[in-house]
Amino acid sequence: MDALRRVRLSDHFWAWEFSCRGTRCSCHGATQVDDELVRLLEDFRGLVESPISVLSGFRCDGHNRTVSGHPRSFHRVGMAADLSSFALRRDLEGWAAKLGELIVERVGNERGNVIWYERQKFIHVDVGRRIAELVRNKEAMLEKLTKGSGEV
Ligand SMILES: [Zn+2]
Ligand SMILES: [Zn+2]
Repeated sequence: MDALRRVRLSDHFWAWEFSCRGTRCSCHGATQVDDELVRLLEDFRGLVESPISVLSGFRCDGHNRTVSGHPRSFHRVGMAADLSSFALRRDLEGWAAKLGELIVERVGNERGNVIWYERQKFIHVDVGRRIAELVRNKEAMLEKLTKGSGEV
């Protein structure tokens, strides 16, 4: 196992939480995580004031294909995380908006994306190049676009 997996990244996040979760890939839980993303998540954890689970952090190329991730997904470079928790699920839209405000404050206006998945009950956040509106609802996006891509 990769030594990085035992590394504590911040007060509340450990490197292993960001490891590739693929079961059919051959990366053996490869881990890659961007410092700025960790700082953002730690600040967000401070606002939420309760534990947050990282459902998906880094994804190797094989795993990204398995989950139909976008070929240029920021998960592939350790710059994205899908988050969920009891508190977040109670108000996904509200927490997504808070995360957006935090991005503007800490990361700025060029980078960072927040996408909330109402049905699947999680929030995607990344510190990659801003792609569209800062905070988006995935289901609403898919209704607009006729051809839906997978997760980002
Ligand atoms: Zn993998
Ligand atoms: Zn994601």
